[in-house]
Amino acid sequence: MARFHRLLRIDLQAQSSTIEEIPAHFEKMFLGGKGLATAYFVNEVPPGIDPLGPENKFIVATGPLNGTIAPASSRFEIVTKSPLTGIYLDCNSGGHFGQDLKAAGFDLLILEKSSDKPVLLYIDNDNVSFIDASLIWGKKVYETEKLVRELIEAPEIRVLSIGPAGENLVRFASLSNDFSRNAARGGSGAVFGSKKVKALAVRGSCDIPVADLKALRKSSEKAKTVIFNNPWVEGQRKYGTVRSVGIVNELGFLPVNNFTDGVVPSVESINEISYEKSIGKILSCGECPVACSKGYSRHGVQMEGPEFETVGLFGPNLGVMDPDEIARFNLSCNQYGMDTITAGSMLGALLDTEIFTEKNGRKVDIIEDLLKKTATRTGVGNLLAEGPVQVGEHFKIMDKMPQIKGLGFPAYDPRVSYGTSLAYMTADRGACHLRSWPVGREFGGMWAEDDIEGRVEFVKNQQDEKAAEESLIVCQFVYGIGLLDEILAELLSVSTGENWTLADMKTAGERCWTLSRLFSCREGISRKDDYLPEKFSNEGIRKGPLKGKLMSRKIQDIMLDKYYSLRGWDENGVPGEELIKRLGLEEWVHD
Ligand code: SF4
Repeated sequence: MARFHRLLRIDLQAQSSTIEEIPAHFEKMFLGGKGLATAYFVNEVPPGIDPLGPENKFIVATGPLNGTIAPASSRFEIVTKSPLTGIYLDCNSGGHFGQDLKAAGFDLLILEKSSDKPVLLYIDNDNVSFIDASLIWGKKVYETEKLVRELIEAPEIRVLSIGPAGENLVRFASLSNDFSRNAARGGSGAVFGSKKVKALAVRGSCDIPVADLKALRKSSEKAKTVIFNNPWVEGQRKYGTVRSVGIVNELGFLPVNNFTDGVVPSVESINEISYEKSIGKILSCGECPVACSKGYSRHGVQMEGPEFETVGLFGPNLGVMDPDEIARFNLSCNQYGMDTITAGSMLGALLDTEIFTEKNGRKVDIIEDLLKKTATRTGVGNLLAEGPVQVGEHFKIMDKMPQIKGLGFPAYDPRVSYGTSLAYMTADRGACHLRSWPVGREFGGMWAEDDIEGRVEFVKNQQDEKAAEESLIVCQFVYGIGLLDEILAELLSVSTGENWTLADMKTAGERCWTLSRLFSCREGISRKDDYLPEKFSNEGIRKGPLKGKLMSRKIQDIMLDKYYSLRGWDENGVPGEELIKRLGLEEWVHD
């Protein structure tokens, strides 16, 4: 119940598909979504393969709650090997695509091998069509989505697609659905491009079986109370994520001039009040009572967003304080299909050198030009398309390139706190703020200034719990501010008819986290990759309330030692045998 127990496997080379049953013990061990996708991924992808080669697999997962009336349950997950970092990657997106894939009757979809020519995949319930996509290859994202609907003659279908960046194998190319929704991080769009898949269209018309609909209705109402009792949700509903700009600036950890200053004198031009003037439609993912997505509509630019990360990284981080210019960069990235976070943080480091200065023209024009060149791999764009590590090494600016394991920093300076630094250092896909978010509690005085242990424990627990949330799959903005709430176990149990406790869910999250680390260790990741770039341990934040704050290498080592030990990993960051046995992961460990 609430599951179809079905996996659709598509062979792109043979243009064939099969439907398989997902074993019940996999569901029990990994819950669904991210966990289940990770279990298949680690089992099936051989060591050392090229992420852009035919051996890489591309897995899309819906969650057990997807398609039900459980609040904020419409997101979907992608798991693959990242062409940007060379390690495990998962990313997710909202909108309505996930609901339709679930309604087509599938919990998991695996794309394998590669097509010889551009292809549009169309899943219409159990039927899979392989449609020649030569005519739409080369099109930008919004036009692609429109053309796919016209080509299939089905305006109601949902579309996941890439733009020119994905086709050109830009290593941080994103995947887009519902026009402005993106699974952006880590280059999943380039994996699509390498397989010559321009778009995946879905139409699903199956009812989602629910074990106890009456109980689910009751639990969903309870969940809404939990959601709206969270004081943070009100601002999210009114302004979206962009409301964080003012808060983060006031606290002093906004990325300013390549993560140097921490604050700008005034954020009024780019805060939520400024962007409120350009709000067009209010948009929402399926079944979400919060509807945080604000449609931007000004000067002919129409899209969802910009979100906080994009504003921070394309705004103060690049020294740009014009809200419409930031929106323009956002739209360009959406249209080319590129991650705004990695693009913005990498460009920040580049513009912090003498290589590109205003002598070369207006800064905003330089940025726009670099985005275009990157997406099309033209001139210097061919290097930029390789991502922060290659760019940092080429220009000898690795010490100040804001990245971990190759993934660009989100729009929070990690020097703000021990917990934020550790969260970035140990996130499964590289520098990421969505795996643990301890900073609110740190400012709230939850731990004494020198209580590193408490922070490490929180980060570890929250990583496991967020892995469980992404296995469900529910939106982090709605449920994820705190630790897992009982209501999620209740929603899962009444929907599936399975008996889930919070502890079971947390263990499933820990299993997923451990498995992703095992995969990445197999690909060469170890302690050496778990540090902040040098700048963040040697230089303090230059201005604002956190002036002088840095994260020394010594502190980073103390945190890593405690973190590894708590996780049951060895001193090099490799999961130990005892842990693997406790979690029942032996069959996933290959020599
Ligand atoms: S809070 Fe925002 S991102 Fe999350 S499900 Fe709702 S509309 Fe989507």
